Amino acid sequence: MPSLYKMPVEQLGGIGKKKSELFAKLGIMNVGELIRFYPRTYEDWSMPYTIASAPENTPCCIRASVDKVYAPARLRGGMLLLKVDVTDGEDCLKLTFFNQQYTFDKLSSGGEFLFYGIVKANSFGYEMSSPQVMTTDRASIHPIYHQTAGLSTKQTEAAMRQAIRLLPEKVNDPIPQNILEKYNLCTLDFAIRNIHFPETMIHAAMARERLAFEELMTLQLGLAQMKTARREITTNRISNIFTDEFTALLPFELTGAQKKAVDDCIKDMSESCYPMNRLIQGDVGSGKTAVAAAVCYNVIRNGMQCAFMAPTEILSVQHFKSLSELLENTGIKIELLTGSLTASKKKAVYERLANGETDLVIGTHALISDSVSFKKLGLVITDEQHRFGVAQRAALISKGESPHIMVMSATPIPRTLALMIFGDLDISIIDELPPGRQKVDTFLIDGDKRDRAYGFLKKEIAAGHQCYIVCPLVEENVSGLASAEEYARHLQETVLSDCRIGVLHGKMKPKDKESVMDSFTNGETDILVSTTVIEVGVNVPSATVMMIENAERFGLSQLHQLRGRVGRGKNRSYCILVSDNQSETTLERLSVMCRTNNGFRIADEDLRLRGPGDFFGSRQHGLPELKIADLSGMELLEKTQSAARTILQDDPLLEKKEHRGLAFAVRSLFAAGGNTLN
Ligand code: ADP
Ligand code: MG
Repeated sequence: MPSLYKMPVEQLGGIGKKKSELFAKLGIMNVGELIRFYPRTYEDWSMPYTIASAPENTPCCIRASVDKVYAPARLRGGMLLLKVDVTDGEDCLKLTFFNQQYTFDKLSSGGEFLFYGIVKANSFGYEMSSPQVMTTDRASIHPIYHQTAGLSTKQTEAAMRQAIRLLPEKVNDPIPQNILEKYNLCTLDFAIRNIHFPETMIHAAMARERLAFEELMTLQLGLAQMKTARREITTNRISNIFTDEFTALLPFELTGAQKKAVDDCIKDMSESCYPMNRLIQGDVGSGKTAVAAAVCYNVIRNGMQCAFMAPTEILSVQHFKSLSELLENTGIKIELLTGSLTASKKKAVYERLANGETDLVIGTHALISDSVSFKKLGLVITDEQHRFGVAQRAALISKGESPHIMVMSATPIPRTLALMIFGDLDISIIDELPPGRQKVDTFLIDGDKRDRAYGFLKKEIAAGHQCYIVCPLVEENVSGLASAEEYARHLQETVLSDCRIGVLHGKMKPKDKESVMDSFTNGETDILVSTTVIEVGVNVPSATVMMIENAERFGLSQLHQLRGRVGRGKNRSYCILVSDNQSETTLERLSVMCRTNNGFRIADEDLRLRGPGDFFGSRQHGLPELKIADLSGMELLEKTQSAARTILQDDPLLEKKEHRGLAFAVRSLFAAGGNTLN
């Protein structure tokens, strides 16, 4: 099987340069990848129905002989209408085809065929419109593949038939025999052949289960290996604790949950000979930044450097500013490193990091550039980590010698998913908000009430507060949704002409973004109209209203994140969700937001209502993309986790000969994805 990964698809009959480019679009470069391109569903032509027993409104296969062929008719507009009657010996089925001269000619010579389509019964008898037609020797289950323009599922099927013929007589199974037996799984040989060309749907289901198991187990093996690989003794243990010295710098008292999180980290870094590997999960506004600062302070005072990576430029700048202010008279040197610095400034930062002058560097993924090196990197922090790929985290970590790792996530994640995504981390949860925080009152309105909402915004602004308005789309006006810029212009020219309005969207230059953000932070603008770039982490305490247009376009967790931008100060705050979508499921989903402010509860609801595939946008979890398994089934997750554990107990690094196939599978899974920034 591995050798098929070296054979380009062009070597298959009927596939030239053009077609191989189409296959490449589907992510298929070679025959091995083609074989691992699984059908999305099947058409069952294997057990034809009689005409009378055909299911209602469901496509099915009918076996019947040609009874009567009508003379073709030309419709207005030039379309050719072709009619044929067929019979199964009991009943007659009237077929109509449009513009299908070739099929028509085939049927004209008579005989028995298979027809696939929906049988409709009415007072004139049975009818089927534009069925697919095959000869009776094709009575089997046909796989249906994802298509791309110019490459039909039939063409993929034809290529697949050839590919399957190239398989060795017996495909080696990467999963050890004892695991196959324990979990009652079919062999890879059976699975590969039957996922594409099953004899029965039961075989297809067995194949699918086995392949999903393999994929999830491979994922677990990969994650577990990363954890083991990091289990090196660290030289970055901290010996003295400076938490009290740090808290004296704060203008507030840490909450109990914050203290606990800091203590967890200090314990990890001082008591164990292994590096810390910890996730800090806290709801929006729970004060994760102060926790990060406390941990950095300890590491720096123990003579090491820290790197703090945030997903966006805006967030990096914000963290940079708040930490610089906090650590002002401490002698600690902080720097910002983002893609928009000039080359010479970057170079200077690189130098100061390499010679140890800089204690703490904050930045975007510019931090993982090859030019960045540290004198003694003791701690790596990634903020809002699910936006980073596993590989990016690894790249930053590799710049130190077993540095401690702290991951901060502001998206409360349901347990089922946390287990997968952060399976390699210890977890601290900040489940307490700083005192004085109020819940954000949330309302759901339809577009008719928009003017009243603007009136409300005006009142808040008159009281000296600020407002966010979020529109989901940037720039152009694809589906009739206003772009941020247009929307802002409209407000400025009409209802909110006496307010100062700023606009922020993803396509702006970092410098421009920063200055728009600055004037909002400094209170020089009243309203910030933006796309979702403000989603994570932005902190402007005097903002009291978050108005979200087309709220139905967001997931609940995302809405919760957005809502978390307000209610950060002393003032009562509000969230207005605007949606004209009246579907029941949408209303149910959005009403969850009005009912609760608890991020963990919202996350559970979101998972329940949308399923895990949509929970994070497909890329956002930073895991490799899965082909066949999904993350919803706790049962399969647990089974594969325990299977992976069994294997690794015996062979932690998958070095044994019999695990070569698994090691290969892990490498290919993690090579294919996981290194994309969204
Ligand atoms: P998040 O967890 O969403 O990243 P931040 O770290 O941005 O939250 O903190 C939100 C706000 O709460 C900031 O203005 C911060 O200064 C403030 N804050 C953090 N911890 C406390 C505390 N213990 N008491 C009072 N205010 C706090
Ligand atoms: Mg934050």
